[in-house]
Amino acid sequence: MQLKECEQCGTQFEARKSTAKYCSGNCRTRASRNRTATGINSAGQPAAAQPKASGGVVLVAGEGLVAQVQRELQDAGRLDTVLGQQALVLAQRMRVVSPDTGSSLSAISKELRTVMAQALDGVAIEGDPIDEVTKRREAKMARLNAG
Ligand SMILES: [Zn+2]
Repeated sequence: MQLKECEQCGTQFEARKSTAKYCSGNCRTRASRNRTATGINSAGQPAAAQPKASGGVVLVAGEGLVAQVQRELQDAGRLDTVLGQQALVLAQRMRVVSPDTGSSLSAISKELRTVMAQALDGVAIEGDPIDEVTKRREAKMARLNAG
């Protein structure tokens, strides 16, 4: 028997085993739950489990995004327009976003979508599948209403 201090509540207790850390099963359960829930270890220090991005930048979207935007603009003949160039810049900004501006990613993507829509405004998109489905459904509805 040896007197030990419970790592969870600090109570002195008689340890039956030299490896015992807690006074009771309750404290052992609470300690393990605390560790997983808060990342705080038994010494009250934050566990070294906080993920830190190295290099300061994270890759958000693949190289493909910029290429895709460029291709769409080129196909529409709008690459050399102010809006076209603006869309390209936005696509590049989406590609590499630093962790502390990560929250603005959705804002950038929304902006990119808006700029792309404006840049491609008036360009006929052939065989848009969503448009086709809508048209077919409307035709069907018209038939049903007529009959
Ligand atoms: Zn205890």
